[in-house]
Amino acid sequence: MDKAEIIRPEFRKSKCRCTLCNLTYSPKEYRALYGIEKVIYFSYLPPEMKRPKTVCHNCLLTLIKSYRKTELKIEVKIIDNFEKSSWDCYTYANDIDDSVVDLSFFP
Ligand SMILES: [Zn+2]
Repeated sequence: MDKAEIIRPEFRKSKCRCTLCNLTYSPKEYRALYGIEKVIYFSYLPPEMKRPKTVCHNCLLTLIKSYRKTELKIEVKIIDNFEKSSWDCYTYANDIDDSVVDLSFFP
């Protein structure tokens, strides 16, 4: 299963930019937006890659799908190292389009 780690704004010193849609926020902006549950960035390590990618909540599943083309079901474990918790998300690949606008990643 793929894993995506929540980038906690508390510890972020540099700006966040989504690798897919280029949504970019400074640490201060991210802290505020995260606080009101508007934006979450994830750190996702694609298969067979060495460096994780930063991706916003809107693009996470789309990004994973792009690496898991043959799979009907996209599964991802969301990890929050700060809270020491994790939970699994499942979505059918067909249901993922390029504009998923919900915040179901929030615990
Ligand atoms: Zn994005």
